[in-house]
Amino acid sequence: MARVLLLIPSRTYRTHDFMAAASRLGIEVVVGSEHRPALAGLMEGRHLRLDFHDIERSTGRIVDFSKAKPLAAVVAVDDAGTLLAASAAAALGIAHNPLDAVEAARDKARMRERFLAAGLPTPRFTVMSIDADPAPVAPTLRYPSVVKPLDLSGSQGVIRADSATVFPSVFRRVAAIIAGCSPNGGRRSLLVEDFIDGEEVAIEALLRRGELEVLAIFDKPDPLNGPFFEETIYVTPSRLPDATQTLVAQTTARATRALGLTDGPIHAELRLNSDGPWVLEVAARSIGGLCSRTLRFGSGISLEELILRHAAGLPVPEHDRERRAAGVMMLPIPQAGVLREVAGQTEARRVFRIDGLVITIPPGEPLIPLPEGDRYLGFMFARGPSPASVEKALRQAHAQLRVLTDA
Ligand code: ADP
Repeated sequence: MARVLLLIPSRTYRTHDFMAAASRLGIEVVVGSEHRPALAGLMEGRHLRLDFHDIERSTGRIVDFSKAKPLAAVVAVDDAGTLLAASAAAALGIAHNPLDAVEAARDKARMRERFLAAGLPTPRFTVMSIDADPAPVAPTLRYPSVVKPLDLSGSQGVIRADSATVFPSVFRRVAAIIAGCSPNGGRRSLLVEDFIDGEEVAIEALLRRGELEVLAIFDKPDPLNGPFFEETIYVTPSRLPDATQTLVAQTTARATRALGLTDGPIHAELRLNSDGPWVLEVAARSIGGLCSRTLRFGSGISLEELILRHAAGLPVPEHDRERRAAGVMMLPIPQAGVLREVAGQTEARRVFRIDGLVITIPPGEPLIPLPEGDRYLGFMFARGPSPASVEKALRQAHAQLRVLTDA
């Protein structure tokens, strides 16, 4: 039986789907987490407490652990564990992304430098300390521009600035979000770059020894023009012409090579305009939230199963994506407040072609909209004969929901 160490950050949506995949595959899971799990007593020998930021020390602990219980793979279920997974895999001699490539993928400024050096279309960008005075920089920028943190995700802290007049206040808002996310130090810089016009797609792919296999291209039918960039609907297969999809796949492959990534899941975001595809970012992990539930491959294999099979060196069966179209809506947080109830869930579930709705914030918890917020209200899923039918179902079902809050 293969034994795999799953690195599970304290805040992730991905635990259940990875554990379920491991159990289907008969893989023994060792959970690596930053906190002691409630049932740690029952997990003797199957739990490792690790600091995901102290890469050296945690790598040492993983290597020690594997002497008694050899590990076939170390898999980060989310962004937070990708550096440690690469470092530990290298120490254990397991094929994995080079640490330096993962570091570049975790830092939007280094990513831009690598893309530029590789000749990929890259917006003009500059890195600034969050303690800098934005006023003198404001007249030197091109507008609209986008101000964003280097290493957050889910569009948290990403804001468009339309003019030199508003730039300083946008800068300060992003700086405050970054400072709030890293009270104990951490990166105190942000990225300012030109706004790239155009429609956006997301790519889910798997790298195997440097070869990129695209698993799905998602269209994002709601325009993302800012000033905040709340993701909503993802639908696959893409409705883009085949030639454009090929270009998107090729550009994603170039971007992964530019970063030096070689193995494991890839989630990329690209924008398309008259200059062709622009890579917004490439992350060395799979799609976030519960969105992977839209994907089924071959005879019903999940994305997590594919990732674990690849990582543990198990045979990877036929895995074309299912024929039907599928989509997810990341449910937006409409207003700040304390969540009382999401009403209309029964009605939403009854909408034809809706095949799942999960509210991920419990009643009584605060709702914080973007750009400060870092959580989704929930996820809604649909399947149908065509991308248009899936998009329509998601919109109809969303119209049934009412988010009730207390001040
Ligand atoms: P995150 O890792 O938080 O998702 P991204 O850099 O991917 O951060 O930005 C989030 C979203 O913001 C993107 O999906 C895109 O819609 C928008 N965005 C970011 N940078 C730009 C840009 N330079 N031009 C246009 N839109 C952008």
